[in-house]
Amino acid sequence: MVSRVIPVEDFDLVIFGGTGDLARRKILPGLFRRFCSGQMPPAARIIGAARSDLTDDAYRRDIKLALEEFVAKDSRPAAAVKGFLEQLHYVRIDATGTEGWSALRKLTRKDEATVQAFYFSVAPSLFGPLAERLHTHKIAGANARIVVEKPFGRDLESARILNATLRDHFDESQIYRIDHYLGKETVQNLMAVRFGNMLFEPLWNAQYVDHVQITVAETVGVGGRGAYYDKSGAMRDMVQNHLMQLLCLIAMEPPAHFDPDSVRDEKLKVIRALDPPKRDDIVRGQYESPKKGEDYLDEVENRSSITESFIAMKLMISNWRWAGVPFYLRTGKRLKARASEISIVFKETPHSIFDEDSGRHRNILSIRLQPNEGITLGVTIKEPGPGGMRLVDVPLDMTFADALGPETDDVPDAYERLIMDVIRGNQTLFMRGDEVEAAWAWTDPIIKEWTRRGERPKPYDIETTGPEDAAVLMHREGRRWLDIKA
Ligand code: NAD
Repeated sequence: MVSRVIPVEDFDLVIFGGTGDLARRKILPGLFRRFCSGQMPPAARIIGAARSDLTDDAYRRDIKLALEEFVAKDSRPAAAVKGFLEQLHYVRIDATGTEGWSALRKLTRKDEATVQAFYFSVAPSLFGPLAERLHTHKIAGANARIVVEKPFGRDLESARILNATLRDHFDESQIYRIDHYLGKETVQNLMAVRFGNMLFEPLWNAQYVDHVQITVAETVGVGGRGAYYDKSGAMRDMVQNHLMQLLCLIAMEPPAHFDPDSVRDEKLKVIRALDPPKRDDIVRGQYESPKKGEDYLDEVENRSSITESFIAMKLMISNWRWAGVPFYLRTGKRLKARASEISIVFKETPHSIFDEDSGRHRNILSIRLQPNEGITLGVTIKEPGPGGMRLVDVPLDMTFADALGPETDDVPDAYERLIMDVIRGNQTLFMRGDEVEAAWAWTDPIIKEWTRRGERPKPYDIETTGPEDAAVLMHREGRRWLDIKA
């Protein structure tokens, strides 16, 4: 059932930061899987560029270890690993100096038939120096593409500066801002379900939808990223980008075409229609643990930190489609399960013909991003048996692995898909500069207000669903969060 793999155009992909964690854990294992599927052309080259002094062979040895660590054993036959490593090269480069740039120029092809892609898998402070050097050393051709990673700024001003820096050297049509949530199979399926079926779109509005829940729950804490995370918090790290993007895909109007600017124009309109949330519509939390060293405060080594590791919030969208429909967003670390799910909770029927014993029922359309990607529609039916007309909710389950067969295991993960989209020149699943700025313009005043008030987030125990106040946020309006289930 999984569609045929069509090889992409020939390419040179330079990974700045090619020895870093992201390159070793996600980018190169992803490219390896595309190689195994036959999507990577035999002449394509991947060029790692970083500070370490390595030969091509030493780099290949290091990436072989990365594949052993991050790709399952039965998915990496020795011949495939060997073939993939032969397509790897390495250049030692100084992003802020002169070293390595002429070697990189010699190595990269500038003919029309070769796609040039430059992945900036480095700290954002290096984006400007890299963009500038790609031009001054005449490495980037007219069709070059650059890929940048989050964090894309830490507020509106820094995002504007980053955008301006990149646009000094590259056109917006050449800039691919990655949000890996958009590369997930289910997220794209959300668009297929909404716009490919007659069934849902007529119901997709304030008349039929009671509310929407978006949950991205993690079981991990801040771990080794404590110093970085403590300056960021859940709002900057998760809400401003990933949750906001999911919200946009749910709430946007149907675009006229499935092309990058039509989709991104509609997403932008959603962000611009978001109301500023009221103070008591946001709950911030910070995890606690009875075990020493497991507290958020211990992990970030800052006992007076007021950074949030959890957020629950109610958002309202001021437009005709969604007037009066709350969107509840929730994300946090050290929660009871790792699960990302979007649920559209429909209204109850306007009148029940069944007696009171049959209970209250609602259809819920749930889109699971992880684990077990899939879509479930809760439908109300009669409870089987002779007990009279009792109603029960059952799931119409479309877990992709069940519905589409075992080959769904071969569905590319988010990074693989997005990198291949860069090579194909398709920006639909990447954030445009104005979208990022609009998201920061909405986020900034909220964070500024927290900083002004200096309040401590509500403590919550690890392995729970977050602070009690998050439940209250729903209860006070007669609603409840759906459970967080792995
Ligand atoms: P890392 O610290 O593991 O690697 C940094 C890389 O940059 C190394 O290859 C290093 O050699 C190179 N580098 C640093 N300074 C350089 C210079 N002056 N010249 C040339 N190369 C230089 O970082 P990472 O975890 O791989 O993250 C890279 C970027 O991606 C960061 O901006 C990070 O915030 C972002 N990101 C990372 C992850 C992740 O899971 N690791 C997830 C999302 C976003």
